[in-house]
Amino acid sequence: MKDPGVVMVGGGLAAQRAAETLRRRGYEAPIRIVCAEPDPPYDRPPLSKQVLAGGAEDESVSYRPAWWYEEKGIELLLGVRAEALDPQARTVLLDCGVALEYGKLLIATGSGPRRLPFLDHANVHALRTLADARRLRAELVPGARLAIVGAGFIGQEVAATARHLGVEVTIIEALDTPLEPIVGAHLGRWFADLHLEEGVRVITGAMLESARGGERVEELILADGRRFECDAVVVGVGTAPATRWLRGSGLDEGGVHVDTCGRTGLPDVFAAGDACVPFDPRFGVHSRTEHWDAAAWQGAAAAKAMIGEYPGTPPLPSFWSDQYGMRIQCVGHPHLGDAVVLDGDPAERDFEALFTRSGVPVAGLAVGRPRSIPALRRRIEGSDRFAPEPKEEVA
Ligand SMILES: Cc1cc2nc3c(=O)[nH]c(=O)nc-3n(C[C@H](O)[C@H](O)[C@H](O)COP(=O)(O)OP(=O)(O)OC[C@H]3O[C@@H](n4cnc5c(N)ncnc54)[C@H](O)[C@@H]3O)c2cc1C
Repeated sequence: MKDPGVVMVGGGLAAQRAAETLRRRGYEAPIRIVCAEPDPPYDRPPLSKQVLAGGAEDESVSYRPAWWYEEKGIELLLGVRAEALDPQARTVLLDCGVALEYGKLLIATGSGPRRLPFLDHANVHALRTLADARRLRAELVPGARLAIVGAGFIGQEVAATARHLGVEVTIIEALDTPLEPIVGAHLGRWFADLHLEEGVRVITGAMLESARGGERVEELILADGRRFECDAVVVGVGTAPATRWLRGSGLDEGGVHVDTCGRTGLPDVFAAGDACVPFDPRFGVHSRTEHWDAAAWQGAAAAKAMIGEYPGTPPLPSFWSDQYGMRIQCVGHPHLGDAVVLDGDPAERDFEALFTRSGVPVAGLAVGRPRSIPALRRRIEGSDRFAPEPKEEVA
């Protein structure tokens, strides 16, 4: 019987890395990538930065040109959505009615933006896809009034890009300080001040209650009665794993738990990227990261595991954010820290922060200091209290 090969559901970073890894390591059976979007796999970080700013052609974010997939014998099923997984029949049901058989399956459907039910107007935007970036870009004209709901990293990057384009920006955040659950109140205030200095109106501790307008939102209304007129709205209130299609398959539709190699609890089914909740052997926890570095590593790791290779211990989680021409980088799990020590000058946007728990380094954040990250990483990796023995845990 013919080997049905590998099916990857979700044509983003994790799937791309997995496909490249398989072909590079001599895997010859069919590879099919099923992707709900019409575009071949592309890179998302530029969407809130260069693409939104109009400084990068849309095509420049593609990982590979179309001919590359042909040359490598990788079939792209674009504009096709997976609707269900049947692990007994070893098939994925597609919205075109086809039941696609797999030898091995990679779940790499990423995540989708959370929405607010009373904000579904024509000028309300989320930012996850190239199509989202194109739509939003058209609204960012000089003098336009943009309201950003949520001061997470996507909201903050959109604020920075919009300011660069001459847009009047208001950020509305429910927490008292942005990013407080991740970096703590002290650094959270630094992020709020950063945007204030750049001319952004930052409203914190504010519950958005309703919106006024017709087809387009004209005004946002807070629970305390304050009102903000706007021409466009970006909702950046977090994401949820795009795994609802797995309902009934036996896998967790709230994010697929995997071991360090991307294996799920189902035979020959792997998951990688934002859709998965991987096991971190250093900290002994399952933790979903939603960062580029993790999705890239996990995609390659799952591919190696599919062909019987051990991918090694996952690196510490890490991410970067670019705002106002400055790079912010983070490594480790800052939310696990109970203390933070700063070195440098936050007012000059030149500092690093070491997060510790009971005195043991668990994370580092560097602003304007890219060369600090390797040293911070070494300090965290050297803190053996959180790395007793690398544990393998299968979901
Ligand atoms: C605007 C933006 C900026 C970012 N900037 C940074 C940054 O600066 N630094 C950083 O570390 N990280 C950043 N990230 C995060 C990083 O891009 C993601 O962690 C990474 O793209 C995750 O890769 P993935 O393969 O898991 O998912 P994705 O790249 O999201 O790919 C998933 C794909 O699956 C498709 N899909 C979903 N459901 C189905 C289905 N049922 N059937 C078929 N296909 C489906 C989706 O349409 C999508 O194309 C950013 C993300 C965004 C959106």
